[in-house]
Amino acid sequence: MKGNYYNESMETVPRRELEELQKKRLQAVVDHVYRSNRIYRDLFDAHGVGPDDIKSLEDVRKLPMTNKEILRESYPLALFCVPRDKIREMHMSSGSTGTPVIMPYTPADLEQWAECMARCYCMAGASQGDAVQITPLFGLFNGGFGMYHGARAAGLFIIPAGPGNTQRQVRLARDLKARILTGVVSYGLRIIEVMEEMGESLPDLEIGIFGAEAFSESMKKRVSEGLGIEVFDIYGMTETGGVGTLGQDCSAHDGLHVWEDHYILEVIDPRTGEEVEDGQVGELVVTALTREALPVIRFRTADLTKVISREKCECGRTHLRIAPITGRIDDMIIVKGVNFFPKQVEQTLMGIPGVGSNYQIIVEEIDGVKDVRVNVEAGPEVTGFMVEKALKETLGFSPKGDVYPIGGLPRTEGKAQRVFHKKA
Ligand SMILES: [Zn+2]
Repeated sequence: MKGNYYNESMETVPRRELEELQKKRLQAVVDHVYRSNRIYRDLFDAHGVGPDDIKSLEDVRKLPMTNKEILRESYPLALFCVPRDKIREMHMSSGSTGTPVIMPYTPADLEQWAECMARCYCMAGASQGDAVQITPLFGLFNGGFGMYHGARAAGLFIIPAGPGNTQRQVRLARDLKARILTGVVSYGLRIIEVMEEMGESLPDLEIGIFGAEAFSESMKKRVSEGLGIEVFDIYGMTETGGVGTLGQDCSAHDGLHVWEDHYILEVIDPRTGEEVEDGQVGELVVTALTREALPVIRFRTADLTKVISREKCECGRTHLRIAPITGRIDDMIIVKGVNFFPKQVEQTLMGIPGVGSNYQIIVEEIDGVKDVRVNVEAGPEVTGFMVEKALKETLGFSPKGDVYPIGGLPRTEGKAQRVFHKKA
């Protein structure tokens, strides 16, 4: 299998060299944040660790863990590790609790982002001159610009469509012969619907790169078949420097390669903070090795995954592979003593023949007791009983559910809201 590399020597670097490079970069970044930012220095001092204590790669475990709180508390600029006049761009995530997280970029950070993202494009099979339609928002959210910076680096023909106006999107993709579509997977579904309404097809489209939502294998299959494309799952977040920084799956589709020359990954038990064995699910913890303006150190992502393999992949890449994100710790729904993630519900629903691609999970709380209702769109051959039975088999209990005709549930143009919490 051909790798289609952006940076072949680094993507296929022997593991021992990669780890040596990680060690050197870890020493450098710890030294950098310790010297340049008082919050980091105080945190490290309180933990009894400094730059001189990092002698091996394993010494990363001596460092204190961080989380979203340190980034929120330092809003807007207190955690910056470079002088303000070195900043060229910023992006921001709002999150659910209000105070945003700001991620600043120096020129070198923008190059680092572009390189990670360009590697993802090439890993998905992109070649110079291919037209890429970028559908995430160009704004504070990092999606649109990240895909833009990467497409510049990879030499692609950029269609900076942004979200919405789906009929125009379909016409643009058709007229400009877009080969690559990027965005959120739920928008891929929307494009399929609108394409069918318009009686259009997109014969030049071959590659879909989707991120920002945890999506199931069955959802992937629907988008892949509906658009006639190969679907890739891209990963990265505001705190690590944006979309694509953490990696993507290759055409072997056996886990997401993470760019380890730029990041150190650990998977921990979220209750104890101890590292778990490869193959076991836990919380992903990330250290950014090469970012200047705000490198995160042992950042607890709240994303759940596992290490699939550290062996060389059939694509030739040596960077480790993790499972697609199961969900976020705070997305886990606990009802009647049973824990599950929205993605499991999606996987089950999409496995029922005749069920559409739109659904809602409604968590209702009445007098402190939680119950779940799952509403789904389906053809007339699907009954509520069939849905309940399938969910009972995978989740271990039966949520109540209503079946709506196709098109009967509300549509969104951006990241889809699937889970609703209601209190009576
Ligand atoms: Zn691979």
